[in-house]
Amino acid sequence: MTTDDTAADAGMEPRGAQRPWVGGPLAALHIGWTRVFSGLADIILPPSCVGCQARVFAHDTLCPSCWRDIDFIRAPLCDRLGIPLPYDTGGVMISAAAVADPPDFDRARAVALYNGLMRRLIHDLKYKDALHARRLFGRWLRVAGSEVIGECDVIVAVPLARSRLISRRFNQAQILGNEIARLSDKLIAPLALVRTKRTRQQVGLSRTERQRNVAGAFLVPAGQESRIAGKAVLLVDDVITTGATASAAARALKKAGAFRVDVLALAIAGSTPVGP
Ligand SMILES: [Zn+2]
Repeated sequence: MTTDDTAADAGMEPRGAQRPWVGGPLAALHIGWTRVFSGLADIILPPSCVGCQARVFAHDTLCPSCWRDIDFIRAPLCDRLGIPLPYDTGGVMISAAAVADPPDFDRARAVALYNGLMRRLIHDLKYKDALHARRLFGRWLRVAGSEVIGECDVIVAVPLARSRLISRRFNQAQILGNEIARLSDKLIAPLALVRTKRTRQQVGLSRTERQRNVAGAFLVPAGQESRIAGKAVLLVDDVITTGATASAAARALKKAGAFRVDVLALAIAGSTPVGP
């Protein structure tokens, strides 16, 4: 993914290209005022880089230096875990890690590796609800997840435990899910999955501890099964760290009748094993 790709994807056409001159003099007047206000807004709030606040050419984007600091995941990648693979052997490729410990979800995709600037941007989203980062993330997710978004029937965000939701006030996975739904015109089911217990951080736990930690942590509540049964579900989270959380959530969704569960996240931990 390059700066140009994202600029094109984000619909950043040159000013004036977005609204054709149709609709007579009233429409022309409207376009004129829109341009004036847009110009004024840029003077009052000039576009700044989401990563470092340097001046940039458009809102909700990164400067070239910050772009270089993101490890975007590019093909070839493991079809199950979404992690980058060292070489392309052609066709659908599955990593050794996915063969050894198949996850309960079908396919995972992520925008970038969880390090450097990406880690800080996700942290900011979690605790500050940064609106500009949210818009940038939505566009990135749409590109990285084009295949899994296109093939899903319904979007479900990985829920937070109730106590954590109260202390943090919002669920960042739900915010990302809403962005994807808005950009792709897909349905989102905000109540279809609940977290029944608060789990510990997965990093640093052994495989057995990770499985025990998230066992039975998710549930499709009574009355919500119809939103999931027979559907291809896209599960959205901010970070896939070990894969155990996504696997546990996928198990609950499949128990409720989902015929496929794919996962889409902003980042995937590259150095830790991904699998249940
Ligand atoms: Zn920057």
